[in-house]
Amino acid sequence: NRQFRLASRPVGDITASNFEYREEPIPQPSDGEVLVRTIYLSLDPTNRIWMSDRPQYMPPVEIGQVMRGVVIGVVEESKNPDFQKEDLVSGVLGWQDYALALGNTGLGISKLPSPLPCPLSAFVGPLGATGFTAYFGLLDIGQPKSGETIVVSAAAGAVGSVVGQIAKIKGCRVVGITGSNEKCRWLVEELGFDDAINYKTADLETALAKSCPNGIDVYFDNVGGAILDAVLTKINLDARIPLCGLISTYNATEPVPGPYNYSQILMQRARVQGFIILDYSSRFGEAIKDIGQWVNEGKIKYALEIVEGLENAPLAILKLFNGNKIGKLAVKVSEE
Ligand code: NDP
Repeated sequence: NRQFRLASRPVGDITASNFEYREEPIPQPSDGEVLVRTIYLSLDPTNRIWMSDRPQYMPPVEIGQVMRGVVIGVVEESKNPDFQKEDLVSGVLGWQDYALALGNTGLGISKLPSPLPCPLSAFVGPLGATGFTAYFGLLDIGQPKSGETIVVSAAAGAVGSVVGQIAKIKGCRVVGITGSNEKCRWLVEELGFDDAINYKTADLETALAKSCPNGIDVYFDNVGGAILDAVLTKINLDARIPLCGLISTYNATEPVPGPYNYSQILMQRARVQGFIILDYSSRFGEAIKDIGQWVNEGKIKYALEIVEGLENAPLAILKLFNGNKIGKLAVKVSEE
């Protein structure tokens, strides 16, 4: 059983030396447990949060523990009456070929629908946690209304690309902020965004004024930092800001200054609300039904950046921070 364990906490960017590679015997399930073989290992910005010991929404990974990760896998052996060999499952397991789930010591898993309504890889993307994050963050917290203007950052990523497409389905004007011209083209030409801004080359405030002539009603924030600050200058009265992520700060080695334009939240009576997708787990069925239908109707398109081989996970995760990928990043660990 190949594994990556956390060897040290990153200072700034993640490096390969933060992980220790090990090979251990494949574990045997006890009563109540199942053995899961990893097919896809999702790589997510929150992995960087789990690697640090800053305050967070679940305990950090301890030094020496198998690195935590969201997995799509298949049951290889079951000693739990609710699961059978060959069931497809998802869960927060780890950076390894095999994991024990359920029982007294194992981790939680849930079954994927059978038969699958879409290709399995869709469950890594829009029908996985990042799609659910887009769905509940936008609809529950953002509460977009037809005709309103929605801006989303990290727009060509796993969450952002789905946020923008759901907002289009709801009749909004959608503007994406992302880090390359190629990603901007993908958002507008393939996904149907109304406009996209390359924050690495544009003057953001000027570009937002041009792309959002009626101001901004919902800002879905994946990034924080300078992009949030620029967006705040253009928000409308009663704007909603689902605070989904702050990726521009995850590698910070010094305290991060708050937004300079914070006063705009007061002036525009705006509402900023943080949320963690795990809190919505009892409602994932709603998201699967709607997103599954939209994927099958072609209203939600998605891109996957699949890196082959567990051994490449420590380097692949850097793509989340250098922006060198489109859509959802995952590692293919074994065959479907
Ligand atoms: P993505 O697929 O969007 O990948 C991250 C992207 O962020 C990169 O591709 C890059 O794209 C952009 N980025 C990286 N560094 C910076 C930076 N310094 N400034 C601006 N943009 C940057 O990841 P996800 O869709 O999985 O996650 C997006 C956000 O949502 C993250 O903040 C994540 O933590 C959060 N999240 C929150 C959840 C919750 O429950 N609240 C659940 C899931 C995700 P580009 O080329 O555009 O720079």
